Amino acid sequence: MREATMDREIFTPEEERDAHFAAMQWFEAQQMSGHELLTHKELMDGFSWHGHHFRLTHQSQGIWKPQPFAAALTFKTAAPTPGKEAPYADRIDDSGLLRYKFSETKKWANDAMKVAAQRRYPLAWLVGVKPTPSTLFYYARFPAYIVDIDNRNGEFMIAIDETTPPTADHKDSGQIEKKYVSRWTKARIHQHDFREHVLSAYKISCAVCDLPHAQLLEASHIIADSKETGVPEVSNGLALCRLHHTAYDRHLLGIDADRRIHVATRAKSIETTHLQTGLLKFEGHSLTHVPTSKQMHPDGDRLAEHFEDFLRAEAQMTR
Ligand SMILES: [Zn+2]
Repeated sequence: MREATMDREIFTPEEERDAHFAAMQWFEAQQMSGHELLTHKELMDGFSWHGHHFRLTHQSQGIWKPQPFAAALTFKTAAPTPGKEAPYADRIDDSGLLRYKFSETKKWANDAMKVAAQRRYPLAWLVGVKPTPSTLFYYARFPAYIVDIDNRNGEFMIAIDETTPPTADHKDSGQIEKKYVSRWTKARIHQHDFREHVLSAYKISCAVCDLPHAQLLEASHIIADSKETGVPEVSNGLALCRLHHTAYDRHLLGIDADRRIHVATRAKSIETTHLQTGLLKFEGHSLTHVPTSKQMHPDGDRLAEHFEDFLRAEAQMTR
């Protein structure tokens, strides 16, 4: 690493690009090992790269730039207020981009975001998640690229794109491609938001069995998102472990409008005293828990609609 004058080390743009990618790898390694929710302390502890040590967030600021960097490395958003529906509309614009407000007080932070935009460095978006009022975690989305800056509204326009690198020049890319990419990005961000808001509302545990492991939990849609009414709202969701999610989607497990659990005959028939599938013991039970806020409760009409499909599948199997 090049030593700059006066003991202040500054990286070359190439070195800094590598360090940004190393940070993305660090986040990826955390997620791959099932460590999806990071604490503030873990982000402050940061990661090491070629003998350098970097924090991954600022003590209080939303935007973070390590000292030897010219560009921002991460930025964070607050956890949604418990009891309020997630403000999707405030965050994602019509073209599917996250709109992140300029810092009102820190010019260095805005400058660092602009450098990241110019140099097309990947950043990580740290999304606050509050499973209980007194705990706070961050869920990282990366790589995030600042694709445009809206100076009039004071916002950075950011694409979150887990697999597709951004086109060489966002503005010059073909209209069709642009449309496709933005729709795809929008869908991805909404899926992520949905998962995180549902899991957070259900205090990170399965509504059927109470299993409390984020890496085994999924946000299931009551009405599938492929349908028009399958909106990504918490009231159209249930936090379920992988077993119960699959069982619910395949109609091996039904939940009626009163939130009572039903087990399909074909699932019952394979269960014996020696073989317990993790389904039958919940027959007739109510969901273990629903969100505290009424607004986020699983919608009765939607539950009923999904349950009709369960009954239809039952009728077919027992005919
Ligand atoms: Zn479960």
